Amino acid sequence: RRLHLDIMDGHFVPNITIGPVVIKSIRRITGLYLQTHLMIEKPERYIKDFKDAGSDCIIIHKEATSNFISTIKKIKKMGIDAGVALRPKTPVGTVKRFVRDMDMILVMTVEPGFGGQAFLEGTEKKVAEIKALLKKNNVSIPIGVDGGVNVKTASLVASHGATHLIAGNAVFKGNVIKNIKSLYN
Ligand code: ZN
Repeated sequence: RRLHLDIMDGHFVPNITIGPVVIKSIRRITGLYLQTHLMIEKPERYIKDFKDAGSDCIIIHKEATSNFISTIKKIKKMGIDAGVALRPKTPVGTVKRFVRDMDMILVMTVEPGFGGQAFLEGTEKKVAEIKALLKKNNVSIPIGVDGGVNVKTASLVASHGATHLIAGNAVFKGNVIKNIKSLYN
């Protein structure tokens, strides 16, 4: 189990969310693995801040930086995990060469930027593509799904190879305990 924290900068995506200060306060109250998803331009500028705030993993978008692999290496050099996130329109081929350098791959099943969106149909196929790519390279890392995860879509993406499901609304809307129980079923 992990906590997934969505960071938006108002540039890479239109919305703005939290920054390192909030992560630091979350770190103070939980021992859970903190996975920080940077939906920001030039994430290399901020990885140290997010690491120092207590992230256990930093996930970046390849198209957000012109120094993708050096940023990934920088994250790993700090002693934490590094991952890549694929937007719905980003082809799997974009990360083909890099799978051995990753600790996690995150498939976005909605367009990043806002919570509460519906799962984009067909994106489960991308999960299967990633699974096949990892297998081909003999790499065993988590495949996360981010966006529109609910009781219905959870089993769909899990059957296509997703190992980590990121749920926002499906957890926090209504009765949290009840929601979590039904997602695990
Ligand atoms: Zn996310």
